[in-house]
Amino acid sequence: MKLLADLRSDTVTRPSEAMRRAMIEAPVGDDVYREDPTVRKLEERVAEIVGKAAALFVPSGTMANQIALLCHTRPGDEVICGEGTHCVFYESGASSAWSGVQFESIGQGGLFGVDDVAAAIKPRAYYCPNTSLVVIENTHNRGGGRVFPQSDVEAIAAYAREQGLAMHLDGARVWNAAAASKREVAELCQPFDTVSVCFSKGLGAPVGSAICGDTELIERAVRFRKMLGGGMRQAGILAAGALYALDNNRERLSEDHAAARQLAEALRAEDGIEVPPAYTNIVNVALPIEAERVIEAAAKRGVLFSAMAPQKVRLVTHLDARTDRFDDVIEAVVAAHREALRSPSA
Ligand SMILES: *Cc1c(COP(=O)(O)O)cnc(C)c1O
Repeated sequence: MKLLADLRSDTVTRPSEAMRRAMIEAPVGDDVYREDPTVRKLEERVAEIVGKAAALFVPSGTMANQIALLCHTRPGDEVICGEGTHCVFYESGASSAWSGVQFESIGQGGLFGVDDVAAAIKPRAYYCPNTSLVVIENTHNRGGGRVFPQSDVEAIAAYAREQGLAMHLDGARVWNAAAASKREVAELCQPFDTVSVCFSKGLGAPVGSAICGDTELIERAVRFRKMLGGGMRQAGILAAGALYALDNNRERLSEDHAAARQLAEALRAEDGIEVPPAYTNIVNVALPIEAERVIEAAAKRGVLFSAMAPQKVRLVTHLDARTDRFDDVIEAVVAAHREALRSPSA
């Protein structure tokens, strides 16, 4: 079967010809000596977009989050976060292995309010863990690409500061949050001490993330990056892809969001399917039958997506999902669901 669209994730994109050319032509040096001009250029550009004093290029979003945890916490501390946060659910237990922190998950679907934070902070007693950090994920991956309301972010940050807690934004898809809420990335990041961002999600770069914060914190982050094995040498080749992605692939994110809305609408019209609003580029779908049966039927029609639960699937739009042929993609998904409904269960 010919592949029509791979909607498993926005990480499956491949660098375009122009991005590859930028990577090939990038001036490079040894970044462990901090001598790679393209890495430095990327770090300056990211810091500027995010609105922080400094940024550090790292191989993955996982490492960016882990460095943030190392910077803000001590072993035994407690970190407040939303349900299904990436550093709890998708980082192989790194947070407990490297920082030795524990988490208190609050709210629903990745969102929470200032009252939830207030109720979660542990008493300042020697027998309680020391609550030291709040993590917000925007957009929230498992929450279906939801944008965290900025008024809540601001209220939480003000309260956290009062209570002496640091604020970290897992902004792997903060680009999508900015596009969807029609706000500047820097505005969304302003209430946070640190921000991690990814270039290899919706922006289409092959590798790379950054952690952003003040200069003193990023100096400490350089040490933690080396400690975790993330010091890279002529990394400018990768940084050039990320620079290209930042400059060329942010504006088009609203096309992905429109495609996701179109897909959600078409699926919602089908019997038994429940689809929450497509907030950004992620469509979470509750099916009346086993996810695997629909996934299999869709794969035969050239559309790939993944299961999130026995009867839940997730479809993610992105720049390689051929939005010019998106009607065909939607038709294939709808047809696959109808076929799976009709066919007797295995
Ligand atoms: C993908 C992602 C990350 C980082 O993932 P890596 O695969 O390690 O780059 C972090 N946070 C969120 C919300 C993500 O979706």
